[in-house]
Amino acid sequence: MSTLNNEMGFFTRPEKSFSEAMKDAWKAAQSGRSPMEAHFETDSLSEESARQRFEALNAAGRFFYGSLSIIVLYLADTTTLPYVYADDPDALTTRRWVFYYIFINLTLNYLLVIFQLSKYKPDALPTVAPKEWWKYCDRCKDRIPTRAHHCPLCFACILRRDHHCFFAGVCISYNNQRYFVVALTYILVGCLYSLWLSNKYLSGTYRAMFSSEWYYFLPPVMLYDFVFGIATIKVLLICVIGFFSFSAGLTAAYYLTMQILLIIRGQTTHEFGKGIITYRRGLKHNIESVFGPICLVPFYFIFPVVYCVKPKGNGLEWETVNGKKV
Ligand SMILES: [Zn+2]
Ligand SMILES: [Zn+2]
Repeated sequence: MSTLNNEMGFFTRPEKSFSEAMKDAWKAAQSGRSPMEAHFETDSLSEESARQRFEALNAAGRFFYGSLSIIVLYLADTTTLPYVYADDPDALTTRRWVFYYIFINLTLNYLLVIFQLSKYKPDALPTVAPKEWWKYCDRCKDRIPTRAHHCPLCFACILRRDHHCFFAGVCISYNNQRYFVVALTYILVGCLYSLWLSNKYLSGTYRAMFSSEWYYFLPPVMLYDFVFGIATIKVLLICVIGFFSFSAGLTAAYYLTMQILLIIRGQTTHEFGKGIITYRRGLKHNIESVFGPICLVPFYFIFPVVYCVKPKGNGLEWETVNGKKV
């Protein structure tokens, strides 16, 4: 396996020893980047091979996310919902629409995260001339705005870069952070609902997940039951969906909490890691610099129809705590 990985070059860097990789991961954590982002720094890779590998990685993340959400929707629509609401056709119709509503809202926000990425160039309007205090990006050979950072996986400098999302295959940044927050909210709600449905289905057809018989859901036990015909293929699939819903729900809850705290504090993940509080203003200002006018925020969580509304500012210049524009 390691030979295969070495050949593909996706997951291993033969020129780095384990201790060097750990040191890089620790440095990355201190600078607010994830160890995965540090791992994919491209110093020793040629530009073309790095681009091919990272494009494949981004596509793989999107494929994983897309196929998983479609499988969850399909199994809910055809198996768990009809089972749970077998005696109540009206409730079944209503719950089906609830599930579709969550799925549509989640998908639209997810797509907006991908398509509303804020690259410095050519997406940014050239209304602001580069300032002398802007730092220089060695990769782009250009000076880049305050709070922008280069992303090796997006091949560009990203305005107010927060972090690179491997499931969306883009950075969370100035324009798309609000869609990310809404998508996380729907992932959390969808996962909780999916977990509840899975548990109901498994309680009636196999065993309850959250009971003293929880150990029957350990993969080896589950596989044994499946091989010897005690658990059906549907039970096995719903069990896998239940596990994914549980782990994806926990991950979404973590990221959502982090994002809310960072938005309230007026920081990005990178700035949080570095302890930078330069751009922290009042609560209303901090929220509007991510979501746009505060009166519209509740509507984003109902339907992303107000996608044309931009966050406060131009993404290039930022006011500091002293009210100075940098
Ligand atoms: Zn750059
Ligand atoms: Zn990125």
